Amino acid sequence: MSFSALGLCTELLNTVAEKGYTQPSPIQNEAIPAILQRRDIIAIAQTGTGKTASFSLPILHLLAATPRPQTHGVRALIIAPTRELAAQVAANVDNYSQHMNMRTTAVFGGVRIEPQLYALEQGVDILIATPGRLVDLYKQGAINFEHLEILVLDEADRMLDLGFIESIHFIQSLLPEKRQTLLFSATFTKDIKTLATAMLNNPITIEL
Ligand code: AMP
Repeated sequence: MSFSALGLCTELLNTVAEKGYTQPSPIQNEAIPAILQRRDIIAIAQTGTGKTASFSLPILHLLAATPRPQTHGVRALIIAPTRELAAQVAANVDNYSQHMNMRTTAVFGGVRIEPQLYALEQGVDILIATPGRLVDLYKQGAINFEHLEILVLDEADRMLDLGFIESIHFIQSLLPEKRQTLLFSATFTKDIKTLATAMLNNPITIEL
């Protein structure tokens, strides 16, 4: 399979070619077409498999395909367990969106909140966040989820291990019910299945 056969737009095909990706990885082959069809997915994938591109590329495609809403609402929210992972995912999304007009911001704890408040005020299309700081920012009235189309839970098993389940359910309660949800986890435990049942709608499961 080639990237163009997966249905991605020209800007993204140019980006992956420039990065020297000659063909999609197995997770990308499975996840990209399903996400482009607006399906919910559970993907059991380890770091290093190309999982970040497997959700970033189709999210960029879907957001670019429809006009940005007038109000400053977040359109895609990616929740990650640690600041390191959030920063890394944001760097990837920035990189993959270099030929597009897409506003990406990462928010996480351990750093001043003011620059994050300012960035959110300017308008953000894709927000990458750790759960604690996301809840703080929401409680300060800094985030509008009215136009949220896509939610990603990255490394969901680590989020459960770190005790973020309550924050995740609180965040879920703020989001539109009609949305696409993508869950990525390295392991497929009973707790992950329970989380998926609570948050996903008729998902496709991808286990490699
Ligand atoms: P990840 O699993 O998302 O952490 O990605 C692992 C590494 O693989 C990253 O450095 C990516 O830049 C790289 N990568 C992702 N997709 C591909 C691909 N299709 N071909 C070659 N490298 C890739």
